[in-house]
Amino acid sequence: MIENIEVARSLIEHSSKILLTGHVRPDGDAIGATLALRRYLMSLGKEATVILPNAYPNYYSWIPDIQSILILENNQAKVTEVIKEADLLFCVDYNQLSRISALRPLVEPLKIPRIVIDHHIGPQIPCDFLYSVSSASASAELVYRFICEMSGDGAIDLTIATQIMIGITTDTGGLSFSCNNPELYHIVGNLVAKGVDRNNLNIKLFHTYSVDRFKLMSHCLSKMEILADGRTALMTLTEKEQKKFNYQVGDTEGFVNMPLTIQKINRSILIREEDGEVKVSLRSEGDNPVNTIAELFGGGGHKNAAGFEAKLPIVEVVDRLKRLVR
Ligand code: 5GP
Ligand code: MN
Repeated sequence: MIENIEVARSLIEHSSKILLTGHVRPDGDAIGATLALRRYLMSLGKEATVILPNAYPNYYSWIPDIQSILILENNQAKVTEVIKEADLLFCVDYNQLSRISALRPLVEPLKIPRIVIDHHIGPQIPCDFLYSVSSASASAELVYRFICEMSGDGAIDLTIATQIMIGITTDTGGLSFSCNNPELYHIVGNLVAKGVDRNNLNIKLFHTYSVDRFKLMSHCLSKMEILADGRTALMTLTEKEQKKFNYQVGDTEGFVNMPLTIQKINRSILIREEDGEVKVSLRSEGDNPVNTIAELFGGGGHKNAAGFEAKLPIVEVVDRLKRLVR
């Protein structure tokens, strides 16, 4: 049961042009969850548009409806026009407005109702309807529950089911973490019953990378250091190294998880230069929070997957992290 679902229903009923937003460097969950909601809202006769601050990885271009997404950095004029006309805003898969970077100044001043659907700890976005469950596997799982609560399971067609499965699959590493809730398997079962081909989806999601990306991964892994604590792996990638391997948006996705496959390594850090800044990804296993580390640098996330951005030289970020985790 979702508390106060009637509030969401009324907000949707009284709207006609709905804006769906997801976070910067969109991942499979941000994309899948927003696109599934878009399709559902369109089935209710609404105009619904997904807007993201920056481009999604090319290897996701096969995802159903993805071409409908408006990207702020590529289409400022159209995005501004759609935002101006919107009468309801969905914030999906993020808990702070800072996570939508350049979209924030366009969206924050809007005097329209807001619905937040998210699975990050500590939602901080002022809104009229909040559906936040930090134990959920993915925001896409919450979108499934939201649609079922609103209109019943029958409202989920094969395309929506596929988009939801993409979100759940990518945020759980193919149902290998954040996936201990028995209810999740009922949802996955329902999605498969609707015709989602998980075998094929897994190939499309995880087996379609470029040769360049593979070589960049190999380079990155070869540079891995195990820190003095004996349980933390650290990897770095400079802008120059990424250029050498023809870096494309999203190419480093997943690298940070790999050192966790080493025995006794239960914390992994990837520090990467991007657009003159430093982007840090942290992962861990077990009762071993990394969001608290990210928060020290103004970032955040989940207990086992967190991140932050810093306007500092990469060597300084490396240095500070090494001192912190020794
Ligand atoms: P990733 O390492 O894949 O970029 O991010 C993993 C998780 O960490 C995301 O789902 C998000 O919760 C969180 N995260 C990553 N970067 C940031 C950031 O700059 N700020 C905040 N607040 N959270 C972040
Ligand atoms: Mn997510």
